[in-house]
Amino acid sequence: MTDVEERGLFIDGKFVPSESGATFPVFNPHTDEVFSKVAQAGEADAEAAIDAARAAFDGPWGALTPKDRGKFLLKLARIIQEEGESLARLEAKNTGHPIHDVRRFDLVRTVDWFEYFAGMATKIQGDVIPSSFKGVLNYTLREPLGVVGQIVPWNFPLMFVAWNVAPALAAGNTVVLKPAEYTPLSALEVARMAQKAGIPAGTINVIPGKGSVVGALLARHPGVDKICFTGSVEVGKQIIQASASNLKKPLLELGGKGPNVIFEDADLDAAVQGSLFAAYHNQGQACIAGSRLLVHESIWDAFVKRFTERVRSIRIGDPLEETTQLGPLTSKDHQKKVLGYVDVAKGEGAQILFGGRVPGTPETARGYYVQPTLVRADNPKMRVCQEEVFGPFITITPFIDDQAAVDMANGVPYGLGAGFWTRDLRRAHRIAAQLKAGMVWVNSYKLVDPASPFGGSKMSGMGREFGFETMREYTQVKSVWIGYDFQPWKWPE
Ligand code: NAD
Repeated sequence: MTDVEERGLFIDGKFVPSESGATFPVFNPHTDEVFSKVAQAGEADAEAAIDAARAAFDGPWGALTPKDRGKFLLKLARIIQEEGESLARLEAKNTGHPIHDVRRFDLVRTVDWFEYFAGMATKIQGDVIPSSFKGVLNYTLREPLGVVGQIVPWNFPLMFVAWNVAPALAAGNTVVLKPAEYTPLSALEVARMAQKAGIPAGTINVIPGKGSVVGALLARHPGVDKICFTGSVEVGKQIIQASASNLKKPLLELGGKGPNVIFEDADLDAAVQGSLFAAYHNQGQACIAGSRLLVHESIWDAFVKRFTERVRSIRIGDPLEETTQLGPLTSKDHQKKVLGYVDVAKGEGAQILFGGRVPGTPETARGYYVQPTLVRADNPKMRVCQEEVFGPFITITPFIDDQAAVDMANGVPYGLGAGFWTRDLRRAHRIAAQLKAGMVWVNSYKLVDPASPFGGSKMSGMGREFGFETMREYTQVKSVWIGYDFQPWKWPE
């Protein structure tokens, strides 16, 4: 695919303009140029998408066997793979995420998730309950919920389509997905591919538009049976309130401030390498980024020296260049926000060990770039240690013993991902149990797998994605009682 000029909304199997005719621009974060215009959905368009999703649920998609649902998801996975290179380039261009990483992570995971949940479609099953009554068979059915509204952010827009849509469809639901304003293109591309795969019209609808308009409508609409939201804590709270209208049970994937603890017995080479990825992959725009390095004081000098050498060597530039390791941030607003945290750090008395500016090279002059930034912050109560920056900006703090490390690791409102590095097996299990987080990585960071539960504790969210766990989110249980040889209870004489 070449550059997209104008794209419509994807409703009921067709690309259509918005009812109002409104469009919004999509920027290339490397050049600050508009390279696409996308129809902007309003409430009428969202209503049309919900109606289409309902008709598909009551109609062709709902009528399919699990096996046939799985086949469609597998077919979509194949098409995404076949057209993967152009999709990856589009994603890199729209998000600023380096092409090399989009290929090896976002694209691979998008295909993997559709494949995994294609298989899941035929594994969703109920139970036979050991009944207390003679002559009665009691069994459960796991049924789809209906129309699922899905609202996603801009940091991994392609991957989030797969993470949301694949399990919802595998369970037999239909979907209305609202991409983030900055990054609607890859979701529209996947919708086109779904159409090519023959997935019935209305099963997947994609409505780019404002969160406060169409996102809010999806959250409160009585015709939407489930709302899945990935984004900030602030909006997550609004989603809970709006979803009370018809008691949708929200699935919320919210922010994080992941601790990454380097114990004194860590394999330093592995810890440096893994921490670099944890901190700066996708310019640090990741909810599960390891954005708080906590380092044992006895290895402080050695670790900081090696880590800063690696940070200094990071190649910053055009995300479409094969050798680029760090691209621009996805939006100008976000660049401003991240640079603002450099001032916050200085104001709090933290020390900028590396970065903290725009790169200042001719190649990056027009884009939304920020240097990889490392901030020494000895007081874990500082705002830079507590608030999610969501950029190539991490703090580093020394600690004296295991208890201090655990207290610091847990001492934030978030509880999404957490990780640490040690060679001591006993410590590994002990600390893993003590960390308050939905995912804990030992001698690794940011591992995700479609089979492994993903989600947050504390303010990082509610519910779990992936694996069998997520099927609880996307289905409801019905208990069926068959009295095949049961004497109905007598009415008291
Ligand atoms: P955001 O909350 O501003 O926006 C997320 C989505 O919600 C966008 O599509 C937006 O248009 C929509 N939205 C905005 N206001 C809305 C409203 N009132 N009602 C309904 N929808 C609305 O978040 P963001 O800045 O796009 O994304 C960054 C945040 O997402 C970070 O906090 C990050 O940690 C979090 N995130 C979490 C996960 C996870 O899996 N836990 C993954 C990625 C990102």
